[in-house]
Amino acid sequence: MGVMRTLLLKASQSDWLAKQATSRRFAKRAVSRFMPGEHVQAAISAAGDLRERSITTVFTLLGEAIADRSEAEKVRDHYLDVLERVDRSALATHLSVKPTQLGLNISRDLCTELISGLLSRAAALHNFLWIDMESSEHVDATLKVFRELRTSHTNVGLCLQSYLHRTADDLETLLPLTPAIRLVKGAYNEPPHIAFPRKQDVDANFFKLAKRLLAEEARREGVRPGFGTHDMHLITRIQDFAEGAGIPRNAYEVQMLYGIRRDDQLRLTAEGYSVRVLISYGSYWFPWYMRRLAERPANLWFVAKSVFR
Ligand SMILES: Cc1cc2nc3c(=O)[nH]c(=O)nc-3n(C[C@H](O)[C@H](O)[C@H](O)COP(=O)(O)OP(=O)(O)OC[C@H]3O[C@@H](n4cnc5c(N)ncnc54)[C@H](O)[C@@H]3O)c2cc1C
Repeated sequence: MGVMRTLLLKASQSDWLAKQATSRRFAKRAVSRFMPGEHVQAAISAAGDLRERSITTVFTLLGEAIADRSEAEKVRDHYLDVLERVDRSALATHLSVKPTQLGLNISRDLCTELISGLLSRAAALHNFLWIDMESSEHVDATLKVFRELRTSHTNVGLCLQSYLHRTADDLETLLPLTPAIRLVKGAYNEPPHIAFPRKQDVDANFFKLAKRLLAEEARREGVRPGFGTHDMHLITRIQDFAEGAGIPRNAYEVQMLYGIRRDDQLRLTAEGYSVRVLISYGSYWFPWYMRRLAERPANLWFVAKSVFR
């Protein structure tokens, strides 16, 4: 793993740096490349523009690790309001939520209860909700929350990370639930006994898991795969595999982050693939933004340009 990536991921955990950055105008300018605005209305407007281009979206309010019940309930209420706004705007926009932002660190039952409330309202509005996967200490609890919710809700999906050694086993135990799975590489700083340290192993595992998700029996049972990556080499490999197996282009989604590889998002849509873009918003953007920089330290150049603009 690169030294710069490790440094940026460590910096993402600093409260002091977060305070410094979020009060600086240049930092707000730099972050706007990946985020249309801090308020949900900016996300709705960006989703409207993407809809014009036949690209669907998914919204996430930035924030994590909430330690207070009333704060977690506020996040739930915020998302309830967003569901109504999305419905009124006739957008094909899912929600994606972080368990620790909805009380996982307080109690698993609280988290399940809050997400369950969101799923019920989302179902009434014919909407769908994804559960993000956070750092490795939360994986067991997140899987339990998902399992419990999946027994009573059909409109819930889960993110799995290909950098974790455990994910192949987790996927096997989840498949009987016929889940919607968003496969990603993983964005946190994990030690080598937990996550593959080498990019080539993370990528190889991603491809292996993607094939498992696209296997005929899994699809026949109703498993819905989404591939959350900007790695065009990997996406092409998955497309070639799917093409060879006679799997239609709309049987899976390619999911990307707002502002990254826009040209590829448009090209894939024009070629008949289903593309969904995750739009983040909110004022608590520092750790999230540092993770985006860590994914591509060349992005530091945009920060530098924003300082001098
Ligand atoms: C829809 C979606 C949901 C996600 N949800 C989660 C989650 O719940 N939990 C989690 O741990 N992670 C999540 N992630 C993040 C993911 O784990 C990766 O950290 C992130 O997608 C970068 O990896 P990559 O697959 O694009 O591949 P990489 O190998 O990192 O990148 C491949 C190429 O994509 C381009 N690229 C990648 N990132 C950037 C960037 N920030 N800026 C500019 N170019 C870039 C570069 O050209 C790079 O060479 C999500 C990602 C997406 C797209």
